[in-house]
Amino acid sequence: MSHADEPALVLLSGGQDSATCLAWALDRFGRVETLGFDYGQRHRIELDCRPRLREGMAAVRPQWAERLGPDHMLDLSTLGQISDTALTRETEITMTAAGLPSTFVPGRNLLFFTYAAALAYRRGIRHLVGGMCETDYSGYPDCRDDTLKALQVALTLGLDRRVTIHTPLMWRDKAATWALAETLGGTALVDLIREDTVTCYLGDRRHRHDWGYGCGTCPACELRRAGWEGYEVASRT
Ligand code: ZN
Repeated sequence: MSHADEPALVLLSGGQDSATCLAWALDRFGRVETLGFDYGQRHRIELDCRPRLREGMAAVRPQWAERLGPDHMLDLSTLGQISDTALTRETEITMTAAGLPSTFVPGRNLLFFTYAAALAYRRGIRHLVGGMCETDYSGYPDCRDDTLKALQVALTLGLDRRVTIHTPLMWRDKAATWALAETLGGTALVDLIREDTVTCYLGDRRHRHDWGYGCGTCPACELRRAGWEGYEVASRT
């Protein structure tokens, strides 16, 4: 489905998933704006990657450069203040009694999309794009398809304007996410995502692996490594 005459707003954190979503949106929508949130995350370094990532994205295809609109950054430090999690505090990443990793930030995606929808309303945008995924994920309940579909309904009713939440990665595993990047932007895009995105929960930019930078041991690095290896195996066969 193409929406060449419509604008979209992409939630761009600076990680692999949201970067792939940005490429996906640039391939489909006539104008694409980006939105980032600063909520005091430990891996804040991912926010520093965003300008370079946007520049790199514009260089992948001339059409993408024409379509790429302004970037927005919102301060959500309140979220960091009310969240006692391993993403917002210097604590160890463990499993909680609720069976969720301690990196779960309650309400994060609900708030992100609500702010995104409010910004999109002002900008005359009805398409919101996010990299949430329930196939290869950490079990965060606010990444689930049902959560986001319910939120789409709530936002559409609450704003009295049609809001569509697109989650192109929802049913893709991490290997398929790399494959999608290759389909959208070839090796240039795969290389850009390897080099200029940060997925690591600790924000490690010192250790370089085949799949990019990261500590190599946190759950986010584990997922990214396994996905890259799966993609490499699939590309060889
Ligand atoms: Zn890591």
